[in-house]
Amino acid sequence: MTEPVSRALPSRARVVVIGGGVGGTSVAYHLALSGERDVVLVDRNELTSGSTFHSAGLVGQLRSDPTLTAMNRYSVELYRSLQQGENPPGWVECGSIRLASTQERWEEIRRQDGWAASSGLQMQLISAPEAQELFPLMATDGVVGACFLPTDGQVDPSQLTYSLAAGARAMGVQILTHTRVVGIDTEGEGLRRRVTRVRTDKGDIECELVVDCGGMFAAQIARLVGVRVPIVPMSHQYVVTEAMFEHRETPLPSLRDPDNLVYYRQEVDGLVMGGYERQSQPWTASASAYDRIPADFNGRLLQPDHDRFVEISENAAIRVPSIADVGIRSFINGPEGFTPDNEFCLGPTDVGGFFVAAGYCAHGIAGAGGIGKVMAEWVLEGAPPMDLWHMDVRRFGGSYRSPSYTLARTVENYESYYDIRYPAHERRAGRPLRTSPVYAWHAAHGASFGEKSGWERVNYYESNSHVDDEAWRPRGWAGRHWAPAVVPEHRAARETAALFDESSFAKIEVSGPDAAPLMQWVCDNDVARGAGSVTYTQALNARGGIECDFTVTQLGTALFLVVTGTAFANHDASWLRTQARELDADVRITDVTGAWACFGLWGPNAREILAPLTPQDLGNDAFPFLAMRETTIGDVPVRMVRVTFVGELGWEMYCPAEYGARLWQTLWDAGSTHRLVAGGYRAIDSLRLEKGYRVWGADIDPAHTPYEAGLGFCVRLEKPGGFLGRDALAAQKEAGITQRLACLVLDDRSQVALGNEPVRVADAVVSRVTSGGIGYTLGASIAFGYLPVGLAEPGTRVEVGIFGEWVGATVTKDPLYDPRSERVRS
Ligand SMILES: Cc1cc2nc3c(=O)[nH]c(=O)nc-3n(C[C@H](O)[C@H](O)[C@H](O)COP(=O)(O)OP(=O)(O)OC[C@H]3O[C@@H](n4cnc5c(N)ncnc54)[C@H](O)[C@@H]3O)c2cc1C
Repeated sequence: MTEPVSRALPSRARVVVIGGGVGGTSVAYHLALSGERDVVLVDRNELTSGSTFHSAGLVGQLRSDPTLTAMNRYSVELYRSLQQGENPPGWVECGSIRLASTQERWEEIRRQDGWAASSGLQMQLISAPEAQELFPLMATDGVVGACFLPTDGQVDPSQLTYSLAAGARAMGVQILTHTRVVGIDTEGEGLRRRVTRVRTDKGDIECELVVDCGGMFAAQIARLVGVRVPIVPMSHQYVVTEAMFEHRETPLPSLRDPDNLVYYRQEVDGLVMGGYERQSQPWTASASAYDRIPADFNGRLLQPDHDRFVEISENAAIRVPSIADVGIRSFINGPEGFTPDNEFCLGPTDVGGFFVAAGYCAHGIAGAGGIGKVMAEWVLEGAPPMDLWHMDVRRFGGSYRSPSYTLARTVENYESYYDIRYPAHERRAGRPLRTSPVYAWHAAHGASFGEKSGWERVNYYESNSHVDDEAWRPRGWAGRHWAPAVVPEHRAARETAALFDESSFAKIEVSGPDAAPLMQWVCDNDVARGAGSVTYTQALNARGGIECDFTVTQLGTALFLVVTGTAFANHDASWLRTQARELDADVRITDVTGAWACFGLWGPNAREILAPLTPQDLGNDAFPFLAMRETTIGDVPVRMVRVTFVGELGWEMYCPAEYGARLWQTLWDAGSTHRLVAGGYRAIDSLRLEKGYRVWGADIDPAHTPYEAGLGFCVRLEKPGGFLGRDALAAQKEAGITQRLACLVLDDRSQVALGNEPVRVADAVVSRVTSGGIGYTLGASIAFGYLPVGLAEPGTRVEVGIFGEWVGATVTKDPLYDPRSERVRS
């Protein structure tokens, strides 16, 4: 294979890719494949001199996120096809085995079997002896069962990188090694700031677009342009053993034994063996400082840390006893970029034209093909081809500017890498960080907190638990972190009144002369209907896919408040900023989340509770549904917004944060004679399922349009001036949709879908669950999933695969609860 040679530095290119590891070369390859040939890739040293050259090269495809599974499947297709070309990457399709050495792990594998089915990935459940037949070196002691994925494999990471580089060069990409990026220039201020030039130690390259593929160096590179990318270099170790077996005709599959924290793959006549230590070792990053990777750390490794590897070595010999009898050929301790949640950092940033594709958390070889493909489309088209929310760099909010918080979260994730992730499991690192003004009240009243985007949020109050409600506990994993307190909290919202602290809801102010035209262009609904109007809307990409889903309150002629989910502050603000930049709009976009407390009071008694507290007439004429009024509640100035995410009469009340504790107490005291119950987010989720309210990132996403999601009622195709995504929606309306989000009611109330379960009709898997849970008013287990339109008709019988069991379900007209919204408008 020929080494890409360094050439003279071009003075300009449309796209500059920084980093010549497997990530950067794949991005460059796919940019060229997508038709963009004006691309320069630079690396400060040789290609593969970061983490790539010392990778173990395992390629596993199945992940909990269906999008990532799809990306990894594409990687395999690509590596398979490259293997047939002039520059084969050393792809060996040996398959992989994952063992269950505990009963819980076996349940996890059965759950993963469902994910595989819904992703169309081949996977077989096998017995311990069958696993041993495939991997004769293993001992079966304690193995409950296993799964085998025949299309997984292994690849030579350096050869793969050179193969992608050769392909990219053949399509016109210029690759310049020994060219270090030392600066990135921008022009414009605030929203209008864009990259213009990449400065290197060999000269400058004018450009429109930059993709930071710097792996563990990506944070350092992003700092050149003032962007925070929360990636921490972590030491990761494996060994290569001496010969352990005779030559084999068929390669050994790779083997993972997560209960013992280890993995193995064949390396000639020995094994590569590595794992995830319980004691991790961050490298150059600390609680008080960002990473400081030395300038000359090129193509280098760290000193072996034998002490930290003892547990892995001992465990390895439990599963493969003969490994204890052979010597070690090489001991690799290489740093790799990890993120606080073990997912990649992909996508655009707040600096126009500056993209990131890094932080691959020791699965970058498996991911590289898919990453290149989605990034090329994201960079060139402005939107990725699939729902990449879980990998979108914008999921990290301001908290991750802190090195100590980033480090704590990353370390926790690394050290629990192979742990079973039970649904509704809560993380512990770095908590509590962001708290509502009522946090102390919640704690004193028995709150069980969950964490989202650093916010402590009430899941439920233990004090609301009644023994009788135990009868609702779902079977299996769904019942593990289930709490009986959710039932009375749900019931209160339907029957009397419930009070929820929603202060963590993300709040974004859009102001300035172009605020109204910007919001009208970004939203599919008509959101500029005058001060005091409230509109539920989506923001779409050019393909009509739902990029954001939020409520817009018009506060003044040139002032709008966007309220969106807790986790989406950064993402949605960034989407708005990007569109503002594209339009050259004169606006300010400010995240004001922490400045405002927000409490929701809903239920049939809501009006009675609130009326004595406010001079505002709460009748339907004076205060209709989807309206906002500035008024007071008790002593507190508030914005009352008549909306609901639970499907009942009621209001969200916003006040400056410093009044929050007083407002909450006022509401609580007033509710004491009206059977007011304080509730948490688990009850809200159950209530919204009954009412068919969609959750962005689960039920709705950039890959689905409002028509497909059942949100066509928000679309104003005839809006003067149009809106982003309008043409795509108009075309879809004309052609008709082919799939629709359907509501499924399961036959067995105790079987609860948690997301990603396969949905089948007559033995053919046709969909997967997007979200699910119990509706306590309807007494039903409810799930959502996209179905072909022919199957999305009410009455269609389907089956949902829950932990290996096929549970019958019926497609049911949505919403299940109060379909005419009479209660909301009562
Ligand atoms: C021990 C170990 C085992 C692993 N095993 C596996 C495995 O089995 N399967 C799997 O899928 N993944 C595995 N990984 C992870 C995988 O190797 C990485 O995710 C992947 O190689 C990262 O690729 P990258 O292109 O993002 O980064 P890198 O390979 O680090 O590339 C970044 C490049 O950026 C260049 N660069 C940095 N700064 C600058 C600058 N200022 N200017 C120009 N260039 C710059 C660097 O020189 C480098 O070449 C493993 C990782 C380790 C450490």
